[in-house]
Amino acid sequence: MWWRARLRFMRAVAWAHAVADRDLRVAFVTLGCKVNQTESESIAAELGIAGVGCLPDEADVVVVNTCTVTGEADHKARKAVRHALALPQGPVVVVTGCLAALDADALRDLGDRVVVEADKDVVAARVREHTGVAATTDRPVIVRSARARAQLKVQDGCDAFCAYCIVPYARGAPRAVPAERVLAEAERLVGAGASEIVLTGINIGRYDDGGSRLPELVERIAATGVPRIRLSSIEPDAVDEALLEAAAGTPAFCAHLHVPLQAGADGVLARMGRPYDTATYAALVARAREMLPGMALTTDIIVGFPGETDAEFGETLAFAEEMAFSRLHVFRYSARPGTPAATMHAQVPPEVRAERSARLRELGEEMAAAYAGTHLGRTVEVLVERTGADGTAEGVTREYVRARIPRGALPAGSLVSVSPERIEAGPVLVGRSLG
Ligand code: SF4
Repeated sequence: MWWRARLRFMRAVAWAHAVADRDLRVAFVTLGCKVNQTESESIAAELGIAGVGCLPDEADVVVVNTCTVTGEADHKARKAVRHALALPQGPVVVVTGCLAALDADALRDLGDRVVVEADKDVVAARVREHTGVAATTDRPVIVRSARARAQLKVQDGCDAFCAYCIVPYARGAPRAVPAERVLAEAERLVGAGASEIVLTGINIGRYDDGGSRLPELVERIAATGVPRIRLSSIEPDAVDEALLEAAAGTPAFCAHLHVPLQAGADGVLARMGRPYDTATYAALVARAREMLPGMALTTDIIVGFPGETDAEFGETLAFAEEMAFSRLHVFRYSARPGTPAATMHAQVPPEVRAERSARLRELGEEMAAAYAGTHLGRTVEVLVERTGADGTAEGVTREYVRARIPRGALPAGSLVSVSPERIEAGPVLVGRSLG
C-alpha cells in the first residue's frame, strides 16, 4: 500500500538524521558457518567498525547474517530478525546471508524496518544508505588488529548439489575471489600480526581464478611470510596430487586436512549424491598421510540421512574408526525444504537419529583422545590465541589439537614450542613452553 511505503520512507529519513550526527552503532548477529562469520567481519571492517560491532540492544542497525542449511536454521534466522525488531530503540534490521537469497519476501514481511540485501558485497553500502551515514573514507576508521588465526575468504558458491544441501541454490555457482585481492588481504593480515591464515569458502577446491587453482594460491600466500596456513575444509574430489604436492612443499602449510566424509556407507553416499565411495576416500587419505606424515584428519558426518539402515550406520561407524579421524563433527540429518532429500522416502525417526549421533560422537571423542595422545613426549608448535587472568596460555597446534600452557603468560599470536606432558578432557594437551 502506498501510505505504508511512504510512512516507512518518512520514518527512515527521520531516523537517518538522528544517527548521522554521531558514530553509527552496528551490531551483528551471525548464524551458520565460518564463511558467514568471515563475511560479517568484512562488512564490519568496511563500515570502519572494530571487531564485530556493539551489542544488539545498543545498536542503530542490526545486521542479521542468516543461514538456511536446515529448516531449523531458517527458524533461528527469523527469530533473530523478530528479536532485533522488538528492541526498544527500534533499529533498522539489515538481513543478509543465505536465507535472504532464498526467501527475501518472507523476511521483508516481518516488519517495516527490515531491509533485505542478499549480496554481501553491498551490505555496508545499504547500511549507510538507510542511515544517512557517510562512507568510512569520510570517517575515522578503526583498524582492526588481526586475530592470531585469521579467516580469509577466497571463494564462494558451490555446484555440487548434494541431495541434502540448499547452499548451491542460496549462494549460486562457484566463484573465486581474485588472487590479487586474496594476496593483498593476506599481506594486510600478516602486517597486522596474524600468525595463521585459514583459507575459507563454501567449496574452496573449486577455486579457479582464470586457471589459477588452489595449490598455486597456497604457494603464493606462503610467499607473504605468514608462519602458518590452513584450509578450513576441502571436499574429497579436490584432494588431488597437485594440492598434496603444494601442501607438502610449503613449510607453512599445517599438516591438517578437514575432508567432509558425510557417510561411511556407499549406499548412503550414493543417495546423498556425493561423488566418491568409501574406497576412493580411503585411498586419498592414505596418499595424504604419505605426503603429510602425522597429519590430522578431521571430518563431518551426517547421521540419519533418509533411508539409512542400522546396517549402513554400522558401516559408517566401522569406516570412521578405520580412518582414525582426529576430530569428528557429527550432524543429525535435518530436512531442508527445497532439497531432493527432504522428499525422499524412509525419513529416519528423530530418536534413531539422536541415538546414532550419540554413538558416533562417543567414537569421535575416543579417536580425538587417541590422536592427541600421539603428541605426548614430542615437541609441538602452539599458536597462542589467548592468555587467561591466571597466566594460562591457550591455543592450537599445527595439527589442530587444543593446547594449554599453565603459567605461560604469552601474548596472543606467539608461536611457541611446547612439550605436552598430559591430556585433559577436550582433548587438550597440557605442557610447558620450551621457549
Ligand atoms: Fe553443499 Fe555439497 Fe556444495 Fe558442500 S559440496 S556446499 S554439501 S552442495
